[in-house]
Amino acid sequence: MTQEINLKIKDKIAASERILIVSHVRPDADAAGSLLGLGLALQQAGKTVQMVLQDGADNFDYLPGSDQILRQAEGSFDMIVVVDCSDSQRVGHALDGYGAPDLVVDHHKTNLNFGANNVVEPEQVATAAILYDRIPEWGLAFNSDVANCLLSGIVGDTIGFRTSNVDASVLRRAAALMEHGADLAHIYREELVLKSYTAVRYWGAGLNRLLYEDGLVWTYLSLVDREKIGYAGNDDADLVNVLSAVREAEIALIFIEQTHNQVKVSWRAQPDLDVSEIAFSFGGGGHAAAAGADIEGDLQEVMTRVIEKTRELLDNSRK
Ligand code: AMP
Ligand code: MN
Ligand code: MN
Repeated sequence: MTQEINLKIKDKIAASERILIVSHVRPDADAAGSLLGLGLALQQAGKTVQMVLQDGADNFDYLPGSDQILRQAEGSFDMIVVVDCSDSQRVGHALDGYGAPDLVVDHHKTNLNFGANNVVEPEQVATAAILYDRIPEWGLAFNSDVANCLLSGIVGDTIGFRTSNVDASVLRRAAALMEHGADLAHIYREELVLKSYTAVRYWGAGLNRLLYEDGLVWTYLSLVDREKIGYAGNDDADLVNVLSAVREAEIALIFIEQTHNQVKVSWRAQPDLDVSEIAFSFGGGGHAAAAGADIEGDLQEVMTRVIEKTRELLDNSRK
C-alpha cells in the first residue's frame, strides 16, 4: 500500500510543473521547515514551486528559502500539497479559490484525510521526519538547505529531542540530516533558545497571571497585552513550553485571545495523558501530548468552558 501511494506521488510530482505547498496558520517550525524542505527539494528537481503560509514566516528567517514564502497563492498549479495540517481549515485562507489538495503529508492522529492522497503517520515525531523518509522515494534529493529545513521541523516538534516519542530512529534521521549539511547548534539556538526582548516581556504578562489548581496550570495572553508590549505575532511566543516546566502540572493550558471573538487554546500534557481528543471536541486537533484548538467566544467564557472539560479529563484519568 505504502509503495503504491509512493509511486503514485512520485508520478504526480514527475508530471507536475507548477506545485503549490501550504501549511498551517501561526506556523511552527515543523510547518515552516516541512514546507521549505519539500519546496526546496522540488525546486532542486526543476519544479516551479510556490510556498504559502497565511501568517507568513517572520519567525523563520534563519531558514533557507524563507524569503520566498508568500501569504497567498497566486496563479494555477498542477499539484497542491498541504503539510503538517490535520484538516483543511488549518491552512486559513491560503487555499481559498483552490480545490482539495492532491497530497496531504501529516503526523496528527486527528487528521481527517482531506487530500486525494494522504501520507499520515501519527507515530512520527514531525511531518519533517516523514518527508525525510519520503524525499528519496519520491525521486527527490537532499542538499544542505533541505536538510536544515527538515531538521528544524524535527527539533521544533520534539522541543529539541525532549518529547517522549523521540527514539533512536529519530536521532538517526537527525544524524543523517546533519551529514547532509544541517547545522544542529544553529537551528537549536535560533529556534529554541533565542527570543526577542518583546517576546520575553510578553511571556511576563502571561506568567504574572499564572494559575495552578490540582494538576492544571494555565494562563492567558490578551490582545491588550500584545498592543501594550508591542508583540507583533498572534501566538504565545512558545510560552506554553515554559508552562510545561511546572513540575506539579499534569496538563498546562494557554489561552491566546484573537481578533473576531476567537481564542486559540494550547494543551500540553504529561506522557500518560491524551489531550488530542479534547482539542478535537473543541474543533481542533493535535497529538496526545500537545494539542490545540481555535474556539469561538469571549476569552473568559472560553477559559471557563475549556478548563471545566480539561478538569473532567484529568479527574477521569485518575479513576
Ligand atoms: P499548538 O498548541 O498550536 O502549539 O499546537 C499543538 C499541536 O496541536 C500541533 O501539532 C498543532 O498542529 C495542533 N493544533 C493546534 N491548533 C490546532 C487547530 N486549531 N486545529 C487542529 N490542530 C491544531
Ligand atoms: Mn505544526
Ligand atoms: Mn508537526
